[in-house]
Amino acid sequence: MIIDSHAHFEPRMLGEANLIQKLDAAGVDKVALIPAMNDPLPHVPEFVLAASRALMQSGLTRPLAEAAHRFTLTSEGNLRLGGTIYNIYPQPDNEPAFALVKKYPGRFLAWAFLNPRHNPGVLDDLEKWRHEKGMIGVKLHPHWHDYTTDLLYPLFERMQELNLPALIHLGFGKRGDFRAIAEKFPRLKIISAHAGFPFYQDMWNFAKHHNIYVDLSSPYIDENLARAAVKVMGADRCLYGTDAPYGFSDQHKGYDYSEIRGWVERLPVSSTDKEKIFAGNFRELVKI
Ligand SMILES: [Zn+2]
Repeated sequence: MIIDSHAHFEPRMLGEANLIQKLDAAGVDKVALIPAMNDPLPHVPEFVLAASRALMQSGLTRPLAEAAHRFTLTSEGNLRLGGTIYNIYPQPDNEPAFALVKKYPGRFLAWAFLNPRHNPGVLDDLEKWRHEKGMIGVKLHPHWHDYTTDLLYPLFERMQELNLPALIHLGFGKRGDFRAIAEKFPRLKIISAHAGFPFYQDMWNFAKHHNIYVDLSSPYIDENLARAAVKVMGADRCLYGTDAPYGFSDQHKGYDYSEIRGWVERLPVSSTDKEKIFAGNFRELVKI
């Protein structure tokens, strides 16, 4: 069984019919959807991604990657890329993703996207969405929503109580204080998106002794980083994910499911471990 633990519902790039067809063709059994948080972005060339991955792999050069990131954020909290502004939605609309889950309950599950910044009602939002069919946890993005992770504590307290996992795209510095989070909420299940972006190996050693998992999604990482994450953290802590439809697109302007799947298939681990990464760990985490 293959479960994609990290994909976005972005019908402006990959519509419902096309998505189902692609999943069938790629043999992806289930997908945990994340509501769209931004306007569709232009394709980022691989050399830019590779340079940014390289900078983030050491605490010495990571501040350069952070400076580059801050340069792309406008004062209104949107992204400026190549002179064009792309909106980041302060409160992503969860409705379309959950509507798709309702339509295809065997195929899709969904993360509710929440943002605590400028949102005194975030705990009420959690109560609202957690009762939706197929809701498996909460997606958080302190990197693009640009807040320090201490803002998440009231939410984390409730999520820990409810045993609801958090899928979090960590930001730099205090916008990704995974040590403080894990120590304050030892029972909270944390999935750090993109193999611990932007800390990578600086997080893995800490993470394996805490309740932190990683997904192996997106060109924010590459095959070497995925391999290194599995080696340090162990197969039990790693989840298959894609970040579709962003990242690896195929020549038909859809999404290329073969890339990250290949990373997992080529891992030097047992087939039992690969099954855990493809589905078992996720099923255990979200209790399905
Ligand atoms: Zn994503």
